[in-house]
Amino acid sequence: MRLAQASSVAANLLSLTSVSTPDMSDDCIFCKIVKGEIPSSVIFEDEISVAFMDIFPVTKGHCLLIPKEHHVNLFDIDLELLAQLSKRLAELTRRVNNALGPEGVLNAVANGPGAGQEVFHLHFHVIPRNSGDPFGFKFPPNYRDEMAPRDELDNLASLISEASPAM
Ligand code: AMP
Ligand code: ZN
Repeated sequence: MRLAQASSVAANLLSLTSVSTPDMSDDCIFCKIVKGEIPSSVIFEDEISVAFMDIFPVTKGHCLLIPKEHHVNLFDIDLELLAQLSKRLAELTRRVNNALGPEGVLNAVANGPGAGQEVFHLHFHVIPRNSGDPFGFKFPPNYRDEMAPRDELDNLASLISEASPAM
């Protein structure tokens, strides 16, 4: 085999390897699920993602979608992979809706401990919701008593729109 051919074969092998053995973290519980080292109830799995049941469901049918690659949260994942995950998230949400027929399905992602993130491998919650179920966002009491002043909303909209969308 000529050198050029050999290096192109090697490059192909490398790209195959990077698809089948994504970056993982040894002490991450969700990487362990990806590697099959701990039990999980898998809904679907493909080359980039796994969807599985949450072990402490807040409602019946609560499940999670994760990338196979170890990313901590939305702050450290590239937008191309995120776009691919979004498609799977929509599919998982529709499956949950069709399978269980809840009144609604909540999608949630916590980015950082301040937002309630406890497992530091990006995951999207898919949570079937029905009236009277035990789950709920905690909004402050009386938060709807007063609308925010328009100039404050305008200032915040400008601040966020001028900030970098990069990692
Ligand atoms: P968060 O608070 O957004 O980081 O959510 C972490 C979620 O992971 C919680 O809903 C946990 O119940 C769930 N979880 C933790 N360990 C496991 C596991 N081994 N299998 C399935 N879900 C898990
Ligand atoms: Zn991980």
